[in-house]
Amino acid sequence: MITQDSGYIMQLQNMSVNDGEGIRTNIFLAGCPMTCPWCSNPEGQTLINPMTKITTVDEVVTFVKKQMLFYRYSGGGVTFSGGEATVQAEFLRSMTNAFYDRGISLAIETCGAFAFPVVKDILAKMDTIFIDIKHMDPVQHKKWTGYALNPILENICSVDTLQSNLVIRVPLIVGVNADEENLVAILNFLRNNLRKPQIEFLPYHTYGEEKYRQLGKALPDVNFHTPTEEEQNLAIKLACAFGVEVVSYR
Ligand code: SF4
Repeated sequence: MITQDSGYIMQLQNMSVNDGEGIRTNIFLAGCPMTCPWCSNPEGQTLINPMTKITTVDEVVTFVKKQMLFYRYSGGGVTFSGGEATVQAEFLRSMTNAFYDRGISLAIETCGAFAFPVVKDILAKMDTIFIDIKHMDPVQHKKWTGYALNPILENICSVDTLQSNLVIRVPLIVGVNADEENLVAILNFLRNNLRKPQIEFLPYHTYGEEKYRQLGKALPDVNFHTPTEEEQNLAIKLACAFGVEVVSYR
């Protein structure tokens, strides 16, 4: 059951260096309102499944406290990931407050599908907020993610009013969103709407395939691919041409 004291977690992962500064603990919360077929954490799309476990805030805090030394010497901290961490807002709030009160640096990876007024206080405590843009065409966005585009863009603008470092993440998937027209639309939106536009391109990978098998789910039957180095470089060059800073936490 989701309460302020407990919720569904897929994994607690120490020694992560990909989702924020320094050495971090990633907390993967279950549940997501999107249904992207390229999802590398398909166990995160539902709250309850064989790969999720009900976990208390106290258990997570005990786990995280053992890593404090690594955070201190690397400038790291905790990153909330998923799934979509804001789905379990009360649980997320309790963990955020517990870590914030201990002076632990916080980050969150989100698909942007949340009610901003409900989670504003949580997001305001994050040092870094990663928000995905998966497509800039509303029809394509809905087709691929099952979720409307406009609320995501509105939330990005709302988050930009906070003091946190905001990084827009784009999963780069040939056959879905890696075409020049879509990239230009994303970059235009960032340039025109954000105080300090930053983008991170995440080339599509197939690491999650084993999880589909473990969950007894069929692998997505769609025609998309990992971008070549040339295609990745084109995205980076476009971003530079639009004055959008390209960052990488990989
Ligand atoms: S938003 Fe992220 S976690 Fe949710 S289905 Fe899409 S890729 Fe998976």
